[in-house]
Amino acid sequence: MSSTTPYVLDSFTENFFEDLFMAEKETSASEEQLAAVAELKDAALTQDRTGPIVELFANLARIHGEQGTTPEQLGLTRDELVTLADKHAKLDEHGVTVGGRVGKAQPIVREAKARIADYLERHPDEAPSGIEAWERILENQARIKGVLGMTDEDWNSYSGQLRHAVEDVDALASVIDLPAKAVEEVRRVTQTYRMRLTPYYASLILPDRSNDPVLLQAVPTAEMVDNAGVEIPPVAADHSPARLIDQFYPRVVTIKATNMCAMYCTHCLRIAHIGTKDRIYSKEAYGEALDYIRANPEIRDVLVTGGDAFVLPNSMLEWLLGELDSIEHVRMKRLGTRIPVTTPQRVDEELLDILEASNDRKPVRVVTQINTAQEITPVSKAAFKAISGRVMAVMNQAVLLKGINDTKIKMWKLCETIQEAYVRPYYVFNCSYRNPQFTHLRVPVAKGQEIIESMYGNISGDAIPRYIATAGGKIPLHKTNLLGRKDGNLRMQKPWSEERVMYPDADPREYARQDFGFARYQADTEE
Ligand code: SF4
Repeated sequence: MSSTTPYVLDSFTENFFEDLFMAEKETSASEEQLAAVAELKDAALTQDRTGPIVELFANLARIHGEQGTTPEQLGLTRDELVTLADKHAKLDEHGVTVGGRVGKAQPIVREAKARIADYLERHPDEAPSGIEAWERILENQARIKGVLGMTDEDWNSYSGQLRHAVEDVDALASVIDLPAKAVEEVRRVTQTYRMRLTPYYASLILPDRSNDPVLLQAVPTAEMVDNAGVEIPPVAADHSPARLIDQFYPRVVTIKATNMCAMYCTHCLRIAHIGTKDRIYSKEAYGEALDYIRANPEIRDVLVTGGDAFVLPNSMLEWLLGELDSIEHVRMKRLGTRIPVTTPQRVDEELLDILEASNDRKPVRVVTQINTAQEITPVSKAAFKAISGRVMAVMNQAVLLKGINDTKIKMWKLCETIQEAYVRPYYVFNCSYRNPQFTHLRVPVAKGQEIIESMYGNISGDAIPRYIATAGGKIPLHKTNLLGRKDGNLRMQKPWSEERVMYPDADPREYARQDFGFARYQADTEE
């Protein structure tokens, strides 16, 4: 700015100055305050940095807010402050003014910090990740290894984990400290529902909580029998147009490639498929499923799931992916697996090579299910990192479950933790109404809305999953933030503060115009 051109304050700084110079009450500055402000003024004038100017203005605003003292009472004239505001605007690469920074941006950041303060304080205790609880998990591992007579080689191999899986209540009671009454109840329930925990997954159960979120997911409780009522048909029995196939949408099908999992979840939607015993499916069954996909050229995206797709032996997985890649109209594949969470030892170089080879032909996404941050340990994180380096994406489909992730603290922690473990939060399902076996784990739809909406504006946008009900297909459950419309403007609400804003919509007449962009020159030529 030349000396002949006075600096014109922008509206933010004008308003900011107006507040600063407003003398509302009789007040005076202390000697300490005068000295401190003089020092800040000196730094702001002599240093070619924005920081000292911002600090001076922030202190003036703070003192004015606390006791009503104006800059003049603190030894600064308006002209001096205008000069400093001019200097700040010139130093800032993006032309941000001191009024915009100190008068607007800093209060917004302070308010935002206040919104997440309780999360930052509470999450380590209320929702520790498996990484944060790793020392305790290692203690569990040493104890469980000893009880089950596992060598390090057993522990670190998929086959060793499966060979020593905990499948009956006596083995369970030997590795987890459960009350005697609970042991008897689990004994009763496991006569109807199967239980399987790999020793690794059992080691994630932290002993100091009665409803530990890993324990609740893995060990069936009395409600599963007591709530069960009349058995309902397998999920999607009315959406299976061909053997092993489920189909809800024209472009996407699911192949239920196995009924096996490395562990069995108490909230499993496919509990009827999982049944009571593992089955090896015949090549004919897979052949019929592939024939269906070949015969329907609109199918573009195939989800291979189960059970758990990673339970399939490598040779079978390689064959199946190869068959899908050879179908011209199949352009994308997904693999549904919880094994990197429950038995990450399965993720070895051979499996990764198979995934990468298929992904090189056509994109592969791995879809997993992580329901609590406690399930992310250094071991599962390494498995997800390795997978994510070989495929297009790793995505999480969590289930909203009572006591497991049904608070803001737990769900925020889950989504942030999995994102840091190279997994994208994708869906959160409201736990299905279809299976009375897990009525006790269901969470009201509105509670889930409240939790998911609380993430907007507070955690990274790509850590926020979509909230979904499954009812013959996936139905989004998000609350709308559109409140109404007036004179071409939309009335909206910010989900994190409920502040209402007007958002001008696109002009419908402008949108209807066809002579836009280069088409305008075409019209000129034709004239
Ligand atoms: S891993 Fe999936 S399919 Fe297997 S029991 Fe759990 S929820 Fe069901």
